[in-house]
Amino acid sequence: MSANCIFCKIIKGDIPSMKVFESDKTLAFLDINPLSYGHTLIIPKHHGAKLTDIPDEHLTELLPVASRIAKAVGTENFNILQNNGRIAHQLVDHVHVHMIPKPSEEEGMGINWPMK
Ligand code: ADP
Repeated sequence: MSANCIFCKIIKGDIPSMKVFESDKTLAFLDINPLSYGHTLIIPKHHGAKLTDIPDEHLTELLPVASRIAKAVGTENFNILQNNGRIAHQLVDHVHVHMIPKPSEEEGMGINWPMK
């Protein structure tokens, strides 16, 4: 945990969030400024600014959770994005994976929270 980190405060519950998944080492919650309906951030609970700061064992659930979110949203169309460093447009210095659904018209907008 880092005292001044906004995502650590979300993990602790000091800042509210719309959680969609939580385990002992991973949290997923809706992005406050979504690029699409269901835009979710998936974070390791272990604090580190960049991917290279996080021990491997804290990274193992990030993509599996993204996959589960895609299934919950009901889409096979989505972007996974993970920014590191200011030049790469990282604004929040706690590792996070963006899961950005891009459902087709046929897939619709049905989100099946909470995830199974
Ligand atoms: P960028 O804004 O360029 O995508 P990041 O990759 O660092 O930079 O993404 C930070 C993300 O965190 C943004 O999408 C932003 O909307 C989101 N965010 C910031 N504060 C909160 C919050 N309190 N709750 C949920 N999402 C947040």
